[in-house]
Amino acid sequence: MKHPNDFHRLRLGIFPTPVHKLENISRLLGAEIWIKRDDLSGLGLGGNKVRKLEFLLADAKAQGAEVVFTTGGAQSNHAMLTAAAARRLGMTPVLILKKRGVTACRGNQLLEKILGADVRFVDTDDYADIYAEMDRVGAALGRPYYKIPCGGSNALGSLGYAACAREIAEQGPRFDHIICAEGSGGTMAGLALGAKLYLPGTKVHGMMVDTDPFDEITPRLMREAAALLEAPVEVTDADYSLCDCCGPGYAIPSEEGNAAMRLMAENEGLFLDPVYTGKAFAGLVAMAREGAFREGGRVLFLHSGGAGGLFAVE
Ligand SMILES: *Cc1c(COP(=O)(O)O)cnc(C)c1O
Repeated sequence: MKHPNDFHRLRLGIFPTPVHKLENISRLLGAEIWIKRDDLSGLGLGGNKVRKLEFLLADAKAQGAEVVFTTGGAQSNHAMLTAAAARRLGMTPVLILKKRGVTACRGNQLLEKILGADVRFVDTDDYADIYAEMDRVGAALGRPYYKIPCGGSNALGSLGYAACAREIAEQGPRFDHIICAEGSGGTMAGLALGAKLYLPGTKVHGMMVDTDPFDEITPRLMREAAALLEAPVEVTDADYSLCDCCGPGYAIPSEEGNAAMRLMAENEGLFLDPVYTGKAFAGLVAMAREGAFREGGRVLFLHSGGAGGLFAVE
């Protein structure tokens, strides 16, 4: 069996990211709540995509790519961080984004402008159209290119979060629950697989902030990432738990999410975002209030970033 560190990986972030207890929130919720600061992952404004990009862009470099394509929504944190990473590596970032939800040049769109990324919008809801557009643009540019899927969520990208589970195991303390946002699936799948391998007794909960079939996506990505690691594991339903935190829709703020953002800011002085981490933390608060952590034990909330989107809320 391989370890995620056996894979070719570029150093883009600053790891390990800090882990610390949320003293005030713990008191308020009557449970021991800690936070993993992947919002401080060390590239751009930080965030979870940095860990995935270390694996994906190593593969891109190994294949001789000069141009990096990726996609996402108009305010994709992943697209912005991919552009930042490409700049660091001397590669040309081209972002083919979904046109829906494009606003004035704010938030991640402003950051992409500063990064000098080539940003193009396609009026579609179907990623197949977007990947076809990447091939068209790539052929027109006439340089070797590499396509990163939405959210960096394929098996290779997910290894970034299997490695994060290993990092959490080495860092300590021991956690009974890990809670993260799930938007395209790679973070959750990587953590859940990593927990199975390196954190026995820790349950990973994916707080779904979109309406994709995550009950199918999560175990599939876990199995594909396990196959890359040649890990002799059988993924079962008991290896992960999912919770619907989407509210009115992907990237549409929810009342619960906004309340959770205020709770975190007013008690800990930390900022969550309305699309991912606010909704995920609202899910954690609901679990605490339903008594999910009553038996004691420690809970780790993954702060997966999202600061760029904070400045683009309607
Ligand atoms: C992309 C993203 C997520 C979700 O991670 P996935 O691997 O796409 O499920 C969570 N939080 C933030 C801030 C993100 O940008």
